Amino acid sequence: MTAATGPTTVVAVLVAAGSGERLGAGVPKAFVEIDGVTLLEHAVRRFATHPAVGTIVVVAPAADVSRAGVLADAAAGHDGPTPRSGWSDGSALGRARVLVVAGGATRQASVAAGLAVTDAGFVLVHDVARPFVPGVVIDAVLAALTDGADAAVPVVPIHDTVRRVHPDGSFAGTVDRSTLVAIQTPQGFRRDVLVAAHEAGRHLAVTDDAALVEAAGGAVAAVAGSDEAFKVTTPLDLTRAQAVARLGSASTPDVTTG
Ligand code: C5P
Repeated sequence: MTAATGPTTVVAVLVAAGSGERLGAGVPKAFVEIDGVTLLEHAVRRFATHPAVGTIVVVAPAADVSRAGVLADAAAGHDGPTPRSGWSDGSALGRARVLVVAGGATRQASVAAGLAVTDAGFVLVHDVARPFVPGVVIDAVLAALTDGADAAVPVVPIHDTVRRVHPDGSFAGTVDRSTLVAIQTPQGFRRDVLVAAHEAGRHLAVTDDAALVEAAGGAVAAVAGSDEAFKVTTPLDLTRAQAVARLGSASTPDVTTG
């Protein structure tokens, strides 16, 4: 793998095609609302308002591509709906263009579907289930790529004691948590590196893209993540999300009115 030689276009692939069963909301997680605003819209706003991001690809549940398009366009500050056969081009407005594609059965398949419609440059792969990623984390990931990393991931320390367990539930030893970090998104990649890693890792079952790059022999840089980039997984996480949304609404620009 080689160091970055200057790709500067930035595409954010926002994966939103999960069912969200653990949340138990009865709708795909991306459409769960926090004070009337879906997780999808919150996540799109974070990337649409980042000055480096030129394109947002939303990967939606196959049955909800149209609905996701309407929400993503509004969140990105576009005036009209995205034609589903093409890009909603916000470049004239200084805003990211938006495309929505259908996802797959696994997160990996959904990322691959989004990646397929990207072009050159850097790709940020982000879980819509993390709707409140701060701009400084996006900045840090992009800075690592600009400095030559093939891939960069945000990390945060682990606060709980972590133990291995046997299949029967009995303990099999404590893991030294000072040697562990939790991985967040967005994960950033040179597009060529991520495409090659996805192709080489088709047979692997992984839960994030950096693992595919590592498996392919690439170097992955760690940057500082944020507690605000937490993943909405359980019903209690929605309460936390509501608190963060209310705190952030005073400081986060609303691109629909800007
Ligand atoms: O299931 P989990 O919470 O790990 O999903 C992480 C992210 O991957 C979510 O944003 C979810 O919508 C997305 N995903 C997807 N396609 C799938 C499964 C998950 O886009 N088939």
